[in-house]
Amino acid sequence: MTQTLSYSIGKPGIPWTLPEKEQWLAQQVIKRSYHNEVIVHIDSLRSDFNVEQYGVLEYVNGPYPLYVVSTKEFSKQKPTILVTGGVHGYETSGVQGALRFALQHAAKYQANFNLVIAPCISPWGYETINRWNPVAVDPNRSFIPQSPSLEAAQIMAYVSDLGMPIYAHIDLHETTDTDNSEFRPALCARDGIFQEN
Ligand SMILES: [Zn+2]
Repeated sequence: MTQTLSYSIGKPGIPWTLPEKEQWLAQQVIKRSYHNEVIVHIDSLRSDFNVEQYGVLEYVNGPYPLYVVSTKEFSKQKPTILVTGGVHGYETSGVQGALRFALQHAAKYQANFNLVIAPCISPWGYETINRWNPVAVDPNRSFIPQSPSLEAAQIMAYVSDLGMPIYAHIDLHETTDTDNSEFRPALCARDGIFQEN
């Protein structure tokens, strides 16, 4: 049996405008710490890697500094690999997986590759366990020019400024049970569309 997805904010079939987005934002709360679960691990990598702040998100609960962990000495002879986690901040395994790769495995791959690792593209989403950013924009649908997502815009600008061809990009995601209970219904409500589970 299928069930049309419903959500507590807005009217079915009518896309959200600013008041509905503000109502949604007002319901979001901090549930975990970007500093304690992400930044402390990034800081521990400073002796072995280049740790660089590439941007900041000036949100109400912030500011959230944005970091990349990369190979100290880039070689033009080696291909460059980009690893990103937390484009969807609520997908914990992407963030913690990128960190664990940096902490446990990245060093040995540097014999053959330049590495650029951005473990948490959307830290507000990580802290509030959200797919969207505070203005109800999905960063993963926003890797476009004049991006509506500051998360997407800032990592795109950083990668562009590197001036290195990216041989491969590994972007870490997961499918959670809450996709059906929360995030897909919220998407239908925001965009005024109907979907079934
Ligand atoms: Zn995702």
